[in-house]
Amino acid sequence: MSIVLEARDLRRHYSISRGLFADAATLKALDGASFSLARGKTLAVVGESGCGKSTLARLLTMIEEPTSGSFRIGESEVVGADAGTRKALRPKVQIVFQNPYGSLNPRQKIGHALEEPLLVNGRFTAAERSAKARGMMQLVGLRPEHYDRYPHMFSGGQRQRIAIARALMLEPDILILDEPVSALDLSIQAQVLNLLADLQERLQLAFVFISHDLSVVRHIADDVMVMYLGRVVEQGPRDAVFRTPKHPYTRALLSATPVADPTHKKERIVLTGELPSPLNPPSGCAFRNRCPLAQDICAAKVPVLEQKGAQQVACHLV
Ligand code: SF4
Repeated sequence: MSIVLEARDLRRHYSISRGLFADAATLKALDGASFSLARGKTLAVVGESGCGKSTLARLLTMIEEPTSGSFRIGESEVVGADAGTRKALRPKVQIVFQNPYGSLNPRQKIGHALEEPLLVNGRFTAAERSAKARGMMQLVGLRPEHYDRYPHMFSGGQRQRIAIARALMLEPDILILDEPVSALDLSIQAQVLNLLADLQERLQLAFVFISHDLSVVRHIADDVMVMYLGRVVEQGPRDAVFRTPKHPYTRALLSATPVADPTHKKERIVLTGELPSPLNPPSGCAFRNRCPLAQDICAAKVPVLEQKGAQQVACHLV
């Protein structure tokens, strides 16, 4: 199995000023993420807003530098790489955002929006750019006449097809999909998810699929990484995490996810308490103020991720 992306203990901390007379605070937006992702596979990154998913996306797309840790794309290390290596690696990882309208220029025709990454790359003639854009439109299910239309003339689902097409123009190995279907109606979500699965198989793309919605993740993931307040709390193969979730937070998330089988009864675990401020997280386990199983040790010691059966879990009581 060929590994296209490997991260080792990635961290991103920010120093936040608290005024003239106070020491700066440290916000640990991402506090240790390790994984490997093979060609043609999907890693789903799951958690509530503020859990570190988007910070991870910014690191992997080289928009930001990690505070510590490292990652490689293919055989090339990214952290500490020279400018030439980084320039060569950038096209290999592309990102699709939740709101495709926000990432498209309203005054630019779709054909030109698709050609733009090739123009910036500088390796293609005008005829090659046009041919590639038209070929990509066909691949994502857009019609030839769409080439000369503007973003406002498309539905939400079509715009997301355009955003996916644009991300694929430079033939990346890895797509970071940041909540790619959250803004769409349910029926359109299914169409876009089917398109992504089809493209993954045809092009052998690796996906990092960022989502707060476990019912979507269940359909698309090979591996799942559950995050809480910047830390990975559970990680492993999809079937293991869905069938036998071990961390109390994963169990609570799954208990709130609808299942298709109406005869299947499950107990809903309702999380009490607010998500703590990442600037002032609880001592020990960051989940302890919402955890129904919390004990004294949870306040005293940070649980580390350990192998428990098929998955890794960070909890003192598992
Ligand atoms: Fe709950 Fe303690 Fe496990 Fe944290 S370490 S999830 S507080 S039981």
